[in-house]
Amino acid sequence: MPAELIDGRAVAERLRAALALRIAELSYKPGLAVVLVGDDAASAVYVRNKDRAAASVGIAARTIRLPASTPQSELMAVVAGLNADPDVDGILVQLPLPTGFDTQAVIQSIDPAKDVDGLTPTNAGLLAAGQPALVACTPSGVMKLLAETGVDLRGKRAVVLGRSVLVGKPVAALLTAADATVTIAHSRTADIEAECRRADVVVAAVGRPEMVRGSWIAEGAVVIDVGINRLADGRLVGDVAFDECVGHARAITPVPGGVGPMTIACLLENTLSAAISRRSGFSRTLPKASG
Ligand code: NAP
Repeated sequence: MPAELIDGRAVAERLRAALALRIAELSYKPGLAVVLVGDDAASAVYVRNKDRAAASVGIAARTIRLPASTPQSELMAVVAGLNADPDVDGILVQLPLPTGFDTQAVIQSIDPAKDVDGLTPTNAGLLAAGQPALVACTPSGVMKLLAETGVDLRGKRAVVLGRSVLVGKPVAALLTAADATVTIAHSRTADIEAECRRADVVVAAVGRPEMVRGSWIAEGAVVIDVGINRLADGRLVGDVAFDECVGHARAITPVPGGVGPMTIACLLENTLSAAISRRSGFSRTLPKASG
């Protein structure tokens, strides 16, 4: 029997609607500041989508556009200004930054209490320590889609393909926190196919078009495809060979329309959550970053 499709668009829509209701009850508009450096076309599209989605739920979003020639010190000063701005609850520096920037230094300069991308060492560390944190948006979206399938993760074997700081590592931490038994596979894993075949849950985040074949998926497994890959013929595909895997999995995300829509919805959720924590004087995170 073909797998159930996990409809990320519908789940994201429901999340946005719930956020809009909660925001409407506040006496203020949560503020999100997006910093876009340079003129990368894909980044510009992402930022526009974030702007629109934020406005649709009642978040006051602003985009600060800087030329690629901006000195690192000036970018850091912009972030420092946003850290100090009482109307800004969430700060997101759109990645990747143009060549020449010290990305880590920029990320580390964001106040962890406003780090709605969940990328500062403080938030990544809190997540690794199993403590409340602003969690990176795509991993958060992955967990919500898993919840949507009704899979009970306790004691299940989960394989995460990819170990990036942005996706693989936080997904593995979240699955561990949900009591799954987690294997992280990567480019040096000896037999990635065998690792997958043993898994009840497969999360693919490798950036390799359709790498995960149907024969890799155990009957009845749940498959979450984080990959977004543009092929030479213009098609958009994931890291999972969807047509092959759909016959083996119990539930599977499509690309597009799976994890992608969840990422922005989770960014909005993080912005609301950061606003509530900060404005109520309760900071979930450690002391502010300096600078
Ligand atoms: P990344 O930083 O390039 O990391 C890729 C990971 O995959 C690395 O850990 C790498 O292993 C591993 N890998 C690469 N080739 C492999 C292979 N042949 N076999 C096994 N492992 C392999 O990528 P990322 O930022 O995590 O993103 C992964 C994918 O998700 C991309 O397609 C990206 O576009 C997509 N993405 C989607 C969203 C969304 O909103 N849906 C958000 C973020 C990313 P090593 O560590 O050994 O090099």
